[in-house]
Amino acid sequence: MTENILIAIAWPYANAEIHVGNITGSHLPGDIVARYHRLKGNKVLMVSGTDSHGTPVTLAADKDGKPVEEVYKKYHDGFLELFQGWGITYDLFTTTHTENHFKVSQAMFLALKQNGFLFTQKSLQWYSPSSKRFLPDRYVEGTCYICGFEGARSDQCDNCGNVLEPEKLINPRSKEGGALELRETEHYYLDLSKLEPNVKKFLQERAAHMREPVIGESLGKIEAEGLKPRPITRDLDWGVPIPIEGWTEAGKRIYVWFEAVIGYLSAPIEWSQISGQKEAWRGWWVNPEAKHFHFIGKDNIFFHTSLWPAELMGAGREFLKIFAGDAEPLTLPFDVPANQFMNLEGQKISGSRNWAVFGRDVLSRYDPDALRYYLTVNMPEYKDSDWDWADFLARNNNELVATWGNLVNRVLSFAYKHWEGRAPDFAEESPDGPNFRPIDRNLLTTVEAGFESVGRELEAVRLRSALGEAMKLATAVNQYLDQTSPWSEVKKDKAEASKTIYTALRAIDSLKVIFAPFLPFSSEKLHHFLGYHEPLFGESYVEEVEDSLGVHTVLRYRPSADPEPKWARSTLEPNQQLRQPGPLFKKLEDSVVEEERNRLGK
Ligand SMILES: [Zn+2]
Repeated sequence: MTENILIAIAWPYANAEIHVGNITGSHLPGDIVARYHRLKGNKVLMVSGTDSHGTPVTLAADKDGKPVEEVYKKYHDGFLELFQGWGITYDLFTTTHTENHFKVSQAMFLALKQNGFLFTQKSLQWYSPSSKRFLPDRYVEGTCYICGFEGARSDQCDNCGNVLEPEKLINPRSKEGGALELRETEHYYLDLSKLEPNVKKFLQERAAHMREPVIGESLGKIEAEGLKPRPITRDLDWGVPIPIEGWTEAGKRIYVWFEAVIGYLSAPIEWSQISGQKEAWRGWWVNPEAKHFHFIGKDNIFFHTSLWPAELMGAGREFLKIFAGDAEPLTLPFDVPANQFMNLEGQKISGSRNWAVFGRDVLSRYDPDALRYYLTVNMPEYKDSDWDWADFLARNNNELVATWGNLVNRVLSFAYKHWEGRAPDFAEESPDGPNFRPIDRNLLTTVEAGFESVGRELEAVRLRSALGEAMKLATAVNQYLDQTSPWSEVKKDKAEASKTIYTALRAIDSLKVIFAPFLPFSSEKLHHFLGYHEPLFGESYVEEVEDSLGVHTVLRYRPSADPEPKWARSTLEPNQQLRQPGPLFKKLEDSVVEEERNRLGK
């Protein structure tokens, strides 16, 4: 049965370059799972976009003395280039600064208001008399009144993780400089306490298949603190306007934590509109059978396991009523496979200290599959992991090149040379296909079982284990070749060598598909060497979309022309015409370790 799979990936802030920690945290695992489901023949929609409204973005613009719009577009364009280079195949990567996202966010706001989950309340906020405005969260820093950390933001402490009351901050100082005073301001709040029982039930229903650290943190936090009302508007003039008369005019906008997650709903709607299938998004959103996966880093767990489901459950059927005129509930998340953090050479990654491996920069020196391989075997699925350049070199040379790359290269070059550029011809056909020897049949059974075993791991989003399983199968083919030794067999008995090489080609052809979600570039190359015409995957492309806010650029995905599911064992024909093979991967020199370490922290 075909499933509708929504791959929803955390929206990056437009204030920093994406580094390998971000890639292994969300974009890459999302892409691997999306590619797997596409190969299976499922209907996949993979979405995200640039979070262009948060204070990190306005602060970056203030620092550079540039308009916010210019700053967000600069980072956004860089993201699109990075995803294309890394093969991160978004069906739509858009931004939060679109007319569609505004409308969807506003309908969500109104639905929650209609259902009685919003209220207004006055509070004290830091005000700058010199710039005549309230200063939102990150614009004011001071000492945390809970843990004593000196660099706390006025609304949150990054050291102890607590939400702070701005007026209690010790020694507050403005990031803009100048004096500060407390003034009263009014905001809309989402009454999360009313939704707490629904959120708990939602989490308990998913406890069996969600990752232990994710479910543990989410339920633990609710048990310990309960869900408290949170403001969903704030004093800032950049962001989604509030759909209540007078509020936007008063210099207030919808709070970014509330609207950025709504992108998981607005992006599918935008994708439908620009694809000319206006109602297609309903297949993922107004469909209780659809499965939503949220790929995020551990700092975002609570927003996705508790606040986003609360928004969806609170809006209920009212959202569609306001937005489209019918009244159906929206689909809730299925799984939130959040990753822990990746460090770099034993230290926390820091873009500002240049203690980072940036996604675009590193692609100028290494192939994307070598990077994807290392980030997958090292993915911080259950605990923090570490990018270590010596380990990168060893994994590339001893695993990717030695086990898989050399296997492919040896077999393909040998077949190409000794069988005139074709797969060996198997004369002895039996009714159920070529007449394999027991050793051949054993190998193929082992490798073909990978579609089941690796597939099971991919469906459960255990990607390290899935890739480990695939590598074991490649090792099994190497062992088979050690036993059969076609390199000497060919001189004594070419018919026997034909069986061996044909079997090995079939195994490699199946493994190509099993490796494809992880290593799409080399699998596509191998697919071509094996003589196929239609590619395994579709392709990414950039498009401009115009709306009342102007023009924004999006990344899209054009599916492969061949709609047949490809997650299936090889049926490579005897005598199939091959193409001139070449190496899939590059062996790296030991010197890269020193060179790369020297780049860090400078
Ligand atoms: Zn603190």
